[in-house]
This record gives sequence, C-alpha cells and structure tokens, in this order.
Amino acid sequence: MEDQHHRQISYLRLSIIDRCNLRCFYCTPVQELVKLRHTDILRYEELLRLARVAVTVGIKKIRVTGGEPLIRSGVESFLEALGAIPGLEEICLTSNGVLLSEKAEALWRAGIRRLNISLDSLQPERFARITGGGRLADVLAGLRLATAIGFHPIKINCVVLRGVNDDEVLDFARLSLAYPWHIRFLEFMPIGHTRRHWEEYFLPMSQIQTRLRSLGPLQRLPSAANGGPAVRYRFADAPGEIGFISPVSRHFCERCNRLRLTADGRLRPCLFEDSEVAVKGPLRAGASDAALQALFRQAVLLKPSRHQLDHFSPSPCRRTMARIGG
Ligand code: SAM
Repeated sequence: MEDQHHRQISYLRLSIIDRCNLRCFYCTPVQELVKLRHTDILRYEELLRLARVAVTVGIKKIRVTGGEPLIRSGVESFLEALGAIPGLEEICLTSNGVLLSEKAEALWRAGIRRLNISLDSLQPERFARITGGGRLADVLAGLRLATAIGFHPIKINCVVLRGVNDDEVLDFARLSLAYPWHIRFLEFMPIGHTRRHWEEYFLPMSQIQTRLRSLGPLQRLPSAANGGPAVRYRFADAPGEIGFISPVSRHFCERCNRLRLTADGRLRPCLFEDSEVAVKGPLRAGASDAALQALFRQAVLLKPSRHQLDHFSPSPCRRTMARIGG
C-alpha cells in the first residue's frame, strides 16, 4: 500500500488489549479505569482475519502490543496462529516484561524471536513509583530468562523523563556493555493525559547523547533494514547496542511505514492524530475481504505527511498510549 506521500506501508502495530498490569503515571491515567468491555475488544479470530487481510494488501511485519499483551489469556496460541499466516515476514511483541519469565518459554514455542521490553528505571523503588507498584525484579528475571532462551534482538525501550529517570541514562547505556541488548532511549511524546505536562518532562535526545559521551566513543551503525526509527550506535566491543528514537525533536515521518489497529477495532493512520477508520462494525456485519482491504487502503490514504508536534503546539492526540496501542 502506498500512501499519498509515496511511502510504502508494510508494518502494522496490532493492539490486542487496552488493559495493562502496570499504571505508568505518564501512560495510564489512574482515573481511566472505565475499561472497554470484553465484547468491545476484537476476538482472536477477528484479529487473525484482519491480519490475514492486512497481509494481502502489503503488510509484512506485525507488532503485537497493548495495553499489556501478555495479560490476555491465550496470547501464545494467538501468536502461533499469527505466525502461520502466509506472507507475513516478521512478528514481534512489545511488553512491559512483568510476565516475561512466566511466558518466555511459551512465546518461544509460539515462534516469537524478537522482543521489545519497556523499562524506565533500574532502581526498584523508582520503578515501583513510575509504574504504580510494579516489581523491577520480575522484569529483570524475565529479561535474563529470555536472553538465556535465545530471543534476539531484545530491545529495551526507556522513555527518558526529565527529573524522573534522566539520571539513569548512563546506567541503562552500560547494560549494552554487558548484555546483547539493544538499549533504546525514547523521547517523551505529548500524548494522552500527560500532554499538559509534556514540557516539564521532555528531554531532547541531543542532551541524552551528550551525557553518553562520558562512557566512550559511540560507533554509528547502519539503519535497520526494515527502516526502523532508531538511530543506532555501539560502544567499541560492546555486545549490545544503543538506539535513539526522537519522534519529537527529529521526527521520522518521511520514513513512516506503519498503521495501527486499536484493540477496539479502529485503524489509526498516525499515532499523533485522532482520525481513525472503524473496522470492527463492518467486520462484525459480515464485510467481505475486499471490503476490509478497502478500509486498510482508506486508512493509509489518511496518513498525514508528518505529525504536527513541535515545541509550541499541544498535541491533538487525546487517546492515551495504552488505549492506542504503543
Ligand atoms: N505494555 C506494553 C509495553 O509496556 O511495552 C505495550 C504498550 S505501552 C503503551 C508501549 C510503550 O509506550 C511503552 O514503552 C511506554 O513507555 C510508551 N509510552 C507511553 N506513553 C508515552 C509517551 N507519552 N511518550 C513516549 N512513550 C510513551
């Protein structure tokens, strides 16, 4: 699928649940406890049908996300079924890692090899504060087990928040010297309920990069073959990598190749805009594959040339990341 700005759209982020077992203060508002009902969420067979249709219109990579995907029961069988879709070249999973040690073996058996784990602090108390009570030890145990099993790459995504965890940037970077992990620093984005506090927490990537220099020179690595947004580096002889993802200060919209499908069945053309194409209604009303293909194409044509975030305009995006599917 080509959009109006000559970009090929081949990557779908598929949210399978809006709920999460953590309450990261910047992501999931405490008040947003009105959850979608079970029937609002796409069933696995519906997700699989949409995934199959997506592949027929050119999707080659699917990332399963949420909410927290590992809390949805039956996720392992769903992933296995997803992996069996002919023409789908890559499946990966994004998780907070809390249930990783419990699920890692089953995920491997289901055919998952690549993991993105979100982790914003290496200090147990701070981790608990940021996540509303999460246990860092659970995530670290999951990471160690997943590494031993052979998942690769394991990407650790750290959202850097000024005054909250920015003093841990070097500790995170040092992990790449000891483990084959890809440590990726992400800029905080003005999305959802915290967008009003965005200026308070936002730290531009340039400042994070400056801080890392004290650990030694970073060698630039080629961009990922699938056009991922991270600018990649490695410390000399390190088994792991460092990546910088700067959606705000250096947006990568010109290389955007993605669509999102929310857990309640809406195709979202751009993370930062609330325009969405509803697919659940047509799907449940018996839409043909051709009609569903047309909805994918419609969503692709709605993709803006770039997001309108900058330092002076508040984001128009009202849904939280947990509701969109991060
Ligand atoms: N539960 C899964 C996880 O933790 O990876 C998937 C969903 S979570 C919403 C996906 C990612 O979005 C997390 O890494 C989270 O830190 C990130 N995120 C949420 N709100 C964000 C924001 N305002 N700016 C940058 N990243 C954000």
